[in-house]
Amino acid sequence: MAGRVITIDGPAGSGKSTMARLLADALGFVHFDSGALYRAIALYYLRAGIEDPEEWAARIGEVPLRVETRDGRTSVMLGDEVVDGEIRTAAVSNLVSPVSAATPVRRRVNAEAARFASRFDLVADGRDMGTVVFPDAQLKFYLDATPEERARRRLKDELARGRKTDFETVLAEQRARDENDRNKPWGALRVPEGAVVVDTTDMSVREVLELLLAHARERFEADGEGEGER
Ligand code: C5P
Repeated sequence: MAGRVITIDGPAGSGKSTMARLLADALGFVHFDSGALYRAIALYYLRAGIEDPEEWAARIGEVPLRVETRDGRTSVMLGDEVVDGEIRTAAVSNLVSPVSAATPVRRRVNAEAARFASRFDLVADGRDMGTVVFPDAQLKFYLDATPEERARRRLKDELARGRKTDFETVLAEQRARDENDRNKPWGALRVPEGAVVVDTTDMSVREVLELLLAHARERFEADGEGEGER
């Protein structure tokens, strides 16, 4: 039965993408990573040297963004090129928040989300999944953690990816992105009404997953636990 939606929102480093992936796997839903789409659009503008916010809005139609599902996960492409790795660079991370403030950019991502929701059961993660994109989702989560813990997690990821950086730099970049994400005119980060709020600061990945799964099982018990169409 396609059409069930679980949303997971929260700031950078709150663990939402990891949890969305694990939860989707456990339930047989598709993971829709909205941040990855914003990142792919930012990568396109970065490569094209387009720096003016008015151009980001005006030229969204030319971005050859494609989203596909493979093994229940979204994979983002620019034309025929899979960009899942390149969208994680620091240059993209620093550009994506201002790019995603442009309303036409948000409309493009939201349209993809709606298209996916019409085909699959989804776990959708981002900043505004439970507020703007899927206000009627059957289950909503909001994950958070202290800024220091989030920066520690991000630093670990960045170092694993081979970037030379340090805690203070990551914390400062995160602060700038949080500030931007909370103050967007449309699609700003906030706690959705009715969301289950989870502070993951002192929780392991397994503990968070078990908590989310318990809520999901309770919520969907009446429907059975059918596999989502893939
Ligand atoms: O989740 P991730 O860190 O990959 O998202 C990258 C950026 O994309 C965020 O910092 C935010 O600016 C933007 N974003 C958004 N709305 C979403 C998901 C991501 O504005 N639903």
